[in-house]
Amino acid sequence: MLAVVKEHQGPGFSLRDVPTPSLRYGDVLVRVRSVGICGSDVPILAGTRAVPWPLIPGHEFAGDVAEVGPGVDGFKAGDRVTSCLVIGCGNCRFCVSGAENLCDHLVETGIHVNGAFAEYVRVPAKTLLKLRDGTSYDVGASIDPVASAWRTVKALGSALISPLDTAVVFGPGPIGLYAAQLLKLRGACVISVGADGDEAAGRLALASKFADHVIDSSKESVAERVAEITNGRGADAVQDCTGAPPVVDCALNVLRPCGTFAITGLFHRPVETNLGRITRAEIKVFGTICYTRREFAECLEMVERGQVVTEPLVTHRFALSEIDRAWEVIQAKRSIKIMLHP
Ligand SMILES: [Zn+2]
Ligand SMILES: [Zn+2]
Repeated sequence: MLAVVKEHQGPGFSLRDVPTPSLRYGDVLVRVRSVGICGSDVPILAGTRAVPWPLIPGHEFAGDVAEVGPGVDGFKAGDRVTSCLVIGCGNCRFCVSGAENLCDHLVETGIHVNGAFAEYVRVPAKTLLKLRDGTSYDVGASIDPVASAWRTVKALGSALISPLDTAVVFGPGPIGLYAAQLLKLRGACVISVGADGDEAAGRLALASKFADHVIDSSKESVAERVAEITNGRGADAVQDCTGAPPVVDCALNVLRPCGTFAITGLFHRPVETNLGRITRAEIKVFGTICYTRREFAECLEMVERGQVVTEPLVTHRFALSEIDRAWEVIQAKRSIKIMLHP
């Protein structure tokens, strides 16, 4: 089968023929029809993130069941499916409590084991969910970033219960655009904040379709605009979907006393900030990582009901063999979501 293979540290990846995976107990072989390129795939392809080389990346996919392994119930060849990337061991204290995203022996498709930048991918049946008849493969391949945003929005719990509450979302990439939609579903007034480059990529224009207000932080003061929109009260919640250090101070400053700072973005560097602001204003801070199968299923349901839309985020589509062209688009930072069709 044709696959994109990342062989080593540093730049470069290859498109080549590799053996189709063989099935073990509980596995399913999926013929990949759509696979999205995730922000987390970029450092893997660039070779700046260590993975067990050689690796076929790709975890945001949908396709058809091609073959089921021994011990698999509930799936048959031809079923249209999507898959969550988290593979929990099923036995540790986190898996048992339903938080398999924190599994002691966590395995993620396309990160720790071969993924879906290929014609076929092998996954445990327990990661799969069936798509409704009318759900396209591109939509099925879009659930992963929705679920990453949803775990945070869900965890905000009673912090956001009224249309009078204001939530600020930093970062209008896919996860931030889904966070804006999900926070609207929860009833909040949503402010989406972009930075340099987001306008050129069309992210702010799309954010304005989902959020009540959009702020371009490269052109205007976030603190001033949030104060204006909230009549001086400040935001009730901030969700970071960037992992960019400058967001931290800004987030803490736009929150009202007792507000909540929820972190979805992954910070790769230490951040220097004034923690005194957290104490003085009694701000609550928490983070979430990835999502559980249950949250993934909830997001598939919301997307299939039309409560969350994914199609407008897909700005580019390429055949798998055109991975070099897709890579050029990523480098030029002109895309929101790129779908590959193996
Ligand atoms: Zn992803
Ligand atoms: Zn576990």
